[in-house]
Amino acid sequence: MKVRTRFAPSPTGFLHIGGARTALFSWAFAKKHGGQFILRIEDTDVARSTPEAVQAILDGMHWLGLDYDEGPFYQMQRMDRYKEMIQKMLQEGSAYYCYCSKEELDMLRESQMQQGLKPRYDGRWRPEEGKRLPDVPVGISPVIRFKNPLDGHVVWNDLVKGEISIANQELDDLIIARADGTPTYNFCVVVDDWEMGITHVIRGDDHVNNTPRQINMLQALEATIPQYAHLSMILGSDGQKLSKRHGAVSVMQYDDDGYLPEAVLNYLARLGWSHGDDEIFSMQQFCEWFDLDHITPSAAQFNTEKLNWLNAYYIKQADAERLTTETKTRLKAMGVVVDGDEHLSAVVALYKERANTLNELAESVAYFYRKPVIDATAAEKHLTPEVKPAIAQLAEVLKAINWQPELIHHAINEEVSRYQLKFPKLAMPLRVMMTGIAQSPSIDQVMYLLGRDEVLSRIV
Ligand code: GLU
Repeated sequence: MKVRTRFAPSPTGFLHIGGARTALFSWAFAKKHGGQFILRIEDTDVARSTPEAVQAILDGMHWLGLDYDEGPFYQMQRMDRYKEMIQKMLQEGSAYYCYCSKEELDMLRESQMQQGLKPRYDGRWRPEEGKRLPDVPVGISPVIRFKNPLDGHVVWNDLVKGEISIANQELDDLIIARADGTPTYNFCVVVDDWEMGITHVIRGDDHVNNTPRQINMLQALEATIPQYAHLSMILGSDGQKLSKRHGAVSVMQYDDDGYLPEAVLNYLARLGWSHGDDEIFSMQQFCEWFDLDHITPSAAQFNTEKLNWLNAYYIKQADAERLTTETKTRLKAMGVVVDGDEHLSAVVALYKERANTLNELAESVAYFYRKPVIDATAAEKHLTPEVKPAIAQLAEVLKAINWQPELIHHAINEEVSRYQLKFPKLAMPLRVMMTGIAQSPSIDQVMYLLGRDEVLSRIV
């Protein structure tokens, strides 16, 4: 059996973190088994689906590098096929017309609730041997219902949650086509999973309730039943449902915020799945290791610090040219224009060990290309009258030396001993003047890259 998985988002919003993890797990499972990964856009909810949301999903998948072997398939383009299948079910007797009006159904629900019963369709239009159906009313377009088995249980061995068993008595006869003939959500999923030959349905556990209905319909169609793996939710760090409050939820927002896709992928891979204590691994490694046995059935908690830690790691590892380009783009967005990549590349090399995100990296190097805003507290603390003469003297020396980091360092040291200071006593005010704040990489490197004129202009 060739493994075939799918990611089937509804285009009603951006690709969010939970969806991206579902896509990643489905993708990795297919890769691991040398199978196929399919993208299917479930756009039948026309009121809520938008072309922008479709694009956001495609962009998100592309940014993460989650390539698909087939698709994207659009359910709206498969309507004829669903309708054919509905006809087939009507002919075979596994579906039937129901002429109940809305008023009738409302009345039914009300009386059931009054009796303390769970509201459900009572099967009045369900054909049974020897049963006389009501007369077909005029002027009512019927819906089509699936003839769900009355007894027994639907049982499946969920590959994440273990055995799940649902009594058929809990499931009423689902509407599979509306009065206007359009097929309903669960039915489209069933036809697609079957016709697309999906062997493993990996999806969020908000769909657990749909699974027994889908299995019953697949059985009625004599389709092979796929295996199911329902992934638990992702919660925010406070244990609440993940939302905007917890930071970015759209995958592309992570790009905007300065995260590298490989960091986000690595982070998502560990969100509910583990391989011993391994935290950092490539996607190739992930695809080799990935299995459904090591997915935790409990909810995973989102942890921004851990994502930042991974992002910092991948920034350090990133290719210099790529980092330079990324930093340049982000500087430009801040209104800082840099021409020439060579200088920026050296600046980035100096700072890349210190940044959690590309945005932090861009912000921390911006002072090379525009005058820094001097932090008042740092200035007050370090720019003391006591060091002013040494700094003035240093400025004089700097005018004449060969502009090399070692010689700059040497010049600072000379003034340090001439004025009998400790090295930081001079280095700290220099940092504040050069960068605006008291923390920086080695000050001689900073000054060297700023250039003599700029250094002298910043000495006050
Ligand atoms: N379209 C559904 C959603 O976005 C997923 C359906 C499925 O995976 O079966 O939640």
